[in-house]
Amino acid sequence: MLDDLYQQIILDHYRRPRNKGRAAPADFSARENNPLCGDEIEITGRVQDGRIAEIRFEGHGCAISQASASILTTKLVGKTLPEAEQVITMFLRMMRGDPPTNPKELGDARALEGVLKFPVRVKCATLAWHTAQAGLDQVKAKTR
Ligand code: ZN
Repeated sequence: MLDDLYQQIILDHYRRPRNKGRAAPADFSARENNPLCGDEIEITGRVQDGRIAEIRFEGHGCAISQASASILTTKLVGKTLPEAEQVITMFLRMMRGDPPTNPKELGDARALEGVLKFPVRVKCATLAWHTAQAGLDQVKAKTR
């Protein structure tokens, strides 16, 4: 039953992706791919007053990779950089099998926990999150 709900969340984000496109102007822009599956994700975003004012994704690939990117944008928009990194870290830990310390914080992203049952797809689910982290690293490097 729960699996069905999670599947619906993933399909919904795949069919109606949130925050698709490119932020312009962009304060960060990162692109990564998952050659195992052919997934590509580009994350661009704008930071204002220390918060992620806008975050968008472009890409193509399997439903899990694209849905995961859509979910990521909804979780990170409005967050400060440390808050955003915390969510990313929690998500990546969950995808290594550690239950999230604050499940509410992950929201729809919890739907992707089911992917753990298919180890070969974990890279599909984590691609956008690694890409977003690379983007945030660019902002940190600039403000240092
Ligand atoms: Zn994939």
